[in-house]
Amino acid sequence: MNRHEDIISEVEIERDTTDMLLGNSFVGLLMTIFAFSGLVFFFENDEPSIFTHKLQVWIAMMSISIARLLDSLYWRANLAGKLFNPRPALIRFSVGLYITGTIWALYSILFYSSMATVELAATMVVLSAMAGGAGTVLSPNKKLVSFYSTALLVPMSLCAVTDEEGKFFILGVLGLVFWFGIFTSAFRYNKFFINTLHLKARNNSLVEQMKTERSETEKINQLLIASNEKLDASNATLEAEVERRTADLYKLSNRDPLTNLLNRNGFLKYLNNLLDTTRALDNSLALLFIDLDGFKQVNDSLGHKIGDIVLAEIANRLRNYTEENHLGRWGGDEFVAVIPYANVDTAKAVAHAMRSGVTVPIIANDNQVTLDATIGIAMFPEHGETAVDLIQQADLTMYDQKREQRGSIGVFSQALHQEIKREQQLCERLRCAIDNCEFTVFYQPIIDVASNTLSSVEALLRWKCDDESISPAVFIPLAERSGLMPEIGAWVLNRALIDLSHWQFKQNLAISINVSVSQLLDDSFLKTVDNALKTTQISSARLHLEITESVFASDKEVVSVKVNELVAQGIKVSIDDFGTGYSSLNRLQSMPCDFIKIDRSFVQNSSEESDTIIRATLLMAKEFGCKTIAEGIETEEQKLHLAQLGTDYLQGFYFAKPMNAGDLISWYNENY
Ligand code: C2E
Ligand code: MG
Ligand code: MG
Repeated sequence: MNRHEDIISEVEIERDTTDMLLGNSFVGLLMTIFAFSGLVFFFENDEPSIFTHKLQVWIAMMSISIARLLDSLYWRANLAGKLFNPRPALIRFSVGLYITGTIWALYSILFYSSMATVELAATMVVLSAMAGGAGTVLSPNKKLVSFYSTALLVPMSLCAVTDEEGKFFILGVLGLVFWFGIFTSAFRYNKFFINTLHLKARNNSLVEQMKTERSETEKINQLLIASNEKLDASNATLEAEVERRTADLYKLSNRDPLTNLLNRNGFLKYLNNLLDTTRALDNSLALLFIDLDGFKQVNDSLGHKIGDIVLAEIANRLRNYTEENHLGRWGGDEFVAVIPYANVDTAKAVAHAMRSGVTVPIIANDNQVTLDATIGIAMFPEHGETAVDLIQQADLTMYDQKREQRGSIGVFSQALHQEIKREQQLCERLRCAIDNCEFTVFYQPIIDVASNTLSSVEALLRWKCDDESISPAVFIPLAERSGLMPEIGAWVLNRALIDLSHWQFKQNLAISINVSVSQLLDDSFLKTVDNALKTTQISSARLHLEITESVFASDKEVVSVKVNELVAQGIKVSIDDFGTGYSSLNRLQSMPCDFIKIDRSFVQNSSEESDTIIRATLLMAKEFGCKTIAEGIETEEQKLHLAQLGTDYLQGFYFAKPMNAGDLISWYNENY
């Protein structure tokens, strides 16, 4: 059984066969009726009994043919092309055909001998024609075609062949040959028909399969379209989300959240782009470095919340003088601004406008805050080629400007550049000054007014760099900035205490050592002091530490804790350069101190105001239980004046200039 036969069922074969047989039967039956009637009525017979027999056979043939015709019409009207059960129709058709065939066979056998030559030949022709037609029309059914063609041709042919007269022998043989031909071709037709049916069935099944596959494909397509649409939708949301997040990220990495100005990163990017275009167009631009004056105090005294409000307000004010993207927050209270196409004069004009904008009092949560700004300006291309260079030069200018005078504007210059370069070189030298033994400690006597005797000495550091004496006013701030002060300070402390331990003066001298903010804030400071005292075996009461008022501007909590610890160890504390800086009554109260050193600017200024300040200081010192030291006594007059005002101790060139340890001993021996 091959695959085609698998596809088609027996019922289908039967239905198609029945369809073919019944479909073609109508014309065949009409031909049977006409041909049979013709044979019966066309040829006259000598004997009336034969005609009567023929008539009887004719009636039989007509009856069965009409019955079959009706069946055929019924089939046409009701069943053709439908899914009917083929078996009954096939049985009716087969029965009808068998009867028709039998009547034909009987007719041949019964009336052969009575037929004249012409009638016999005509009958033979009719039978052959009918058999030929049947051979095609009945070929779908092997049994029917075999029976019908045999019934039509074989009886007559056999009669002719076996006729004793032998005159129709050839006709009989031809009839048999013709029968055989019909037989074989009918079988071939049958095979062809069955194959066609299988092919048709296969086609149908393929068409069905295609239909199913198409509908499956259609379904899958619909699903794909639906999921594609979903994917598109979620892609769109995803893209929007990615865009939003990228924008957020860009903002986060390029904007300062407090002021919404560009941050360092954003400003540098912007400045680099601007520099590219400015360079290409052979143009100039100005870079402004703006640092607020007094902001730290706002933060310290009013808190960070107010500080934030103030910064946001300052940013808003600066926006009035330049485009939004030309402004950035560099950090803390520092801002940067770029002014394209500017020359020095326009840059200065904008800087002045910005400064006046900043100085307008700010109201933050019922607090009035007044700030100022120091601004450094660097020009492209004269002062720097790159964004980083320009910002650095403007920053240095601002810094230098701030040292000179807060709340002012300065333009970068080659002189400043040289100064900075020298500072950098000095800084490098300073790093190895201890190792190269370039430091010496000088001592300046401090005289007790009451006894007119030497009470203590102040240790003052000296640095000889390549035979050039560098003033402490220069190298001490440099050491502070470069982080070298704790190390240098420790060296001074040790040197001075060692020198003190060697001196054989009549009285137990005290030593005054200057301590800067960075030393005081350094974690190892207390330990350094402790170690130095222990190794030299000098009592802590003989050590006076001088701190300038500027320490009060630093972290007052830490400073206060450190000073209290020093005092707890019995060390004495002096407030140096009093009256020049940040001291307030409040701070003096929170900070224990033993001495107040009146700055030499008041001592040397013989005005009423200076006197008033000195008197007020003396009064205040008395109130807090502190002794007073007047610095910078150069003349007899100053000495008498300060002594008369009630100062406890005096120090100055009038008594002695700072000198090295050897000279101090000589000086002591000469004077005491
Ligand atoms: P200071 O602590 O106020 O020291 C007094 C300064 O006044 C010294 O200057 C001294 O030479 C000077 N001086 C004293 N008497 C007179 C006078 O009659 N007339 C004038 N015109 N000046 C007088 P010096 O040695 O140049 O020190 C300057 C500053 O450097 C010191 O001021 C101190 O703040 C700082 N310094 C010096 N050595 C050290 C140190 O070892 N550590 C720290 N942290 N600072 C130091
Ligand atoms: Mg001092
Ligand atoms: Mg001083």
